[in-house]
Amino acid sequence: MAENKIPYKIYLEEDEMPKAWYNVRADMKNKPAPLLNPGTHQPMTAEELGGVFCEELVAQELDNENPYIEIPQEIRDFYKMYRPSPLVRAYCLEEKLGTPAKIYYKFEGNNTSGSHKLNSAIAQAYYAKKQGLKGVTTETGAGQWGTALSMACSYFDLDCKVYMVKVSYEQKPFRREVMKVYGASVTPSPSMETDIGKKINAEHPGTTGSLGCAISEAVEVAVKNPGYRYVLGSVLNQVLLHQSVIGLETKAALDKYGIKADMIIGCAGGGSNLGGLIAPFMGEKLRGEADYEIIAVEPASCPSFTRGVYAYDFADTGMVCPLAKMYTLGCDFIPSANHAGGLRYHGMSPVLSQLYDDGLIKAVSVEQTKVFEAAEQFARVEGILPAPESSHAIRVAIDEALKCKETGEEKTIVFGLTGTGYFDMVAYEKFHNGEMSDYIPTDEELAKYRAKLPDVK
Ligand SMILES: *Cc1c(COP(=O)(O)O)cnc(C)c1O
Repeated sequence: MAENKIPYKIYLEEDEMPKAWYNVRADMKNKPAPLLNPGTHQPMTAEELGGVFCEELVAQELDNENPYIEIPQEIRDFYKMYRPSPLVRAYCLEEKLGTPAKIYYKFEGNNTSGSHKLNSAIAQAYYAKKQGLKGVTTETGAGQWGTALSMACSYFDLDCKVYMVKVSYEQKPFRREVMKVYGASVTPSPSMETDIGKKINAEHPGTTGSLGCAISEAVEVAVKNPGYRYVLGSVLNQVLLHQSVIGLETKAALDKYGIKADMIIGCAGGGSNLGGLIAPFMGEKLRGEADYEIIAVEPASCPSFTRGVYAYDFADTGMVCPLAKMYTLGCDFIPSANHAGGLRYHGMSPVLSQLYDDGLIKAVSVEQTKVFEAAEQFARVEGILPAPESSHAIRVAIDEALKCKETGEEKTIVFGLTGTGYFDMVAYEKFHNGEMSDYIPTDEELAKYRAKLPDVK
């Protein structure tokens, strides 16, 4: 089809939407390493995982064989309320940059939670309901995941207990109240409701909490209360599987107009949106059917891929969760003040870690103020106010488009725009007032945390 016929927004009809998720592990020659029991260092069995996670989700977590897993009708019906998400041709940005590159972005911010996290939240809530559970527990930092899960749980009438890092609970009241609108109970962490919370409060009076601590509390509550399980919004194989809906829709929309992407870019925190966006494209690459340049973008202040090591590490600071082999900075690593809350995790999805180790994806790290410059440039021409996390991908998409301007290459660049930034205005304010730091950890600092990695043979 002629170039000028490509619409500003490419939508799919309801019957063109994916009916199955795509499991990229099925096509990987080198499978991601299994989760290990933190006590015995043996691979976690389905039975052991079943004490913490829902049965069906455990099956998905361990499934390295089936390429397609049907999306249950109930989930597809829910997806229809806010999907397909648009694939937008960034004509205005291209013009502003004066680039011959063709830029597309897949926008996941068109739902109340404001991000892609709802794609997996609804799936996890569905399987919990189907198993006859009463409810689920989880942790949240800035609140994107907690909000998405609250929405999903209210839809299926499940109880939702969210442990929110205390400093965010106090400083970010808006997402906390959105969660309550959807009926979730939100507890500042560390709380006095759990053994681990009491212990941490006794050892560190007045602590404002951490994500690792909130995870430990949520897991404890799930394990101790009959009818409850723990759910997680990123990193796990099952979450990447659910997020493949992003990539499948993107591919269907591109195919509809005969467009072939050259480069796919996404921000990477725990790796779920990037893993989902690239899934079907990576499948083609693994099967030798097509080639794509794939770029993961991370903050220079939390550089898991670009400066971490590929090793087994704890998923949480409480060290109660299974060990995962991943690119990691060490589970005690706490990044400097960085306003992309969703990109502050110390590790990276085991699936993406293996693909990166095999040289199938690249990674770059970018500094915070450069990210906000790109965010504003994008907002002013494309209209959308982007989340700080998403703006990492915008930064690199703009940089790549500017390279094309120099070389004259007409590359087709696709990037993931994971969410909106309405709840991140304090970060934008800091940027405007010139108060934003670009602190990058030194090699010595990183070595200190690396030395504490668990010894796994
Ligand atoms: C959570 C979040 C991310 C990062 O998480 P991934 O699992 O790496 O995708 C990115 N963007 C937004 C808007 C988020 O809320």
